[in-house]
Amino acid sequence: MALMTGEQYIESIRNLNMEVYMFGKRVECPVDDPILRPSLNSVRMTYDLAQMPEYQELMTAISPYTGKRVNRFTHIHQSTEDLRNKVKMQRLLGQKTAACFQRCVGMDAFNAEFSTTYEIDQKYGTSYHENFKKFMIYCQENDLTVDGAMTDPKGDRSKAPHAQADPDLFLHVVERRPDGIVVRGAKAHQTGVLNSHEVIVMPTISMGPDDKDYAVSFAVPMDSKGLFMVIGRQSCDTRKCEGSEMDVGNAEFGGVEALTIFDDVFVPNDRIFMNGETEFAGMLVERFAGYHRQSYGGCKVGVGDVLIGAAAVAADYNGAAKASHVKDKLIEMTHLNETLYCCGIACSAEGYPTAAGNYMIDLLLANVCKQNVTRFPYEIVRLAEDIAGGLMVTAPSEADLRDEKIGPYVEKYLRGVTAVSTESRLRILRLIENLCLGTAAVGYRTESMHGAGSPQAQRIMIARQGNLEHKKALAKAIAHITE
Ligand code: SF4
Ligand code: FE
Repeated sequence: MALMTGEQYIESIRNLNMEVYMFGKRVECPVDDPILRPSLNSVRMTYDLAQMPEYQELMTAISPYTGKRVNRFTHIHQSTEDLRNKVKMQRLLGQKTAACFQRCVGMDAFNAEFSTTYEIDQKYGTSYHENFKKFMIYCQENDLTVDGAMTDPKGDRSKAPHAQADPDLFLHVVERRPDGIVVRGAKAHQTGVLNSHEVIVMPTISMGPDDKDYAVSFAVPMDSKGLFMVIGRQSCDTRKCEGSEMDVGNAEFGGVEALTIFDDVFVPNDRIFMNGETEFAGMLVERFAGYHRQSYGGCKVGVGDVLIGAAAVAADYNGAAKASHVKDKLIEMTHLNETLYCCGIACSAEGYPTAAGNYMIDLLLANVCKQNVTRFPYEIVRLAEDIAGGLMVTAPSEADLRDEKIGPYVEKYLRGVTAVSTESRLRILRLIENLCLGTAAVGYRTESMHGAGSPQAQRIMIARQGNLEHKKALAKAIAHITE
């Protein structure tokens, strides 16, 4: 099968019989749900852009495993150029959706699994790499969206997986059969899981010898028996049901996260990528997290581009565009945003081949990238709110603007420069509201903090990769210290 069109993608998700819950009820048709549909539209963009000749270079690649053109989201990175193109693709998609387009977690899981399964097989003579390759080729040939599921609920953070009072707080194997395994547990905050055909499950932390049942990795279809999702609420989510696209700010696109529960799910042998090799859990986590920290130097920058643009438009509409402090704030926002992009490109350019042959990013630089992402979008948001003015949170609804009696007053008193309609002014302010504290703020703000690992996780990696001893030796050499 060739690359799917956006429409084919939507229909393929419609055909999956997924078990989804929201507001205490089963969602019969998630594809048509007004709260959920914008998140599907964001993933659809990864299919639509891949069909457009002008984006083919960024959105697709030739797979060395099938010899065919595949969507880059299913590609195994073959060079540092592939790594850079990945970041550029993510920036493009952030610009086109102003939301989290979700498909990256699968791509990052693909590349982490590719190299880790190879190294496990080298040590143990297992066949995880072949299993993974077979699955990867199936996804490439059918142009599937794959979720990467890592974060366990974790319960008491001071205890290892096997030492938790409730053994299910980390996902684990509960039964071993000749034809496969049965797993139980949950994965929290699963970005895009609802809009995926398949899910790759990985351990969430390094593990010791007692955690054997927890060191498990595999892939299953999203409509597997025993697998179900509980959708996470987003700030202002029910505005999407009110019938005013204007009040939503970004009515077409969004992101989605779900608590994903594996209630005794069967995994056949050929879908298992790790099963008890505890010393490799840390490697898989580190590589997946590294790739996803690189990803944020692309996607968040693209969304940042939209927010900077929105702030500049708001300044135009307020008649404040010529004020020197406004210009300077826009410069600062651009500086911060491009710094994130520099990090994403740098960790890609400094990539290197793994033993399996695919390309890994520079881990230190990827962690620095994500550490900056935990800070800069917050400052960009602060500056956007500063430029926008208080009206972004005090403006009346679209219904007021359209009302026969009140409308003319809203129109008259909330107008900025005469050349621009009040409606346009309110629309741009609603977009800023959406990005800074509405539904998209999940993806742009809080996910910048906690997605791909919370700030402390990066600091641990920076400490490990920073090579302080080398720096000390440099200083001693310059100071002529020989002891
Ligand atoms: Fe992709 Fe960014 Fe969303 Fe992660 S947060 S899935 S990198 S768009
Ligand atoms: Fe994320």
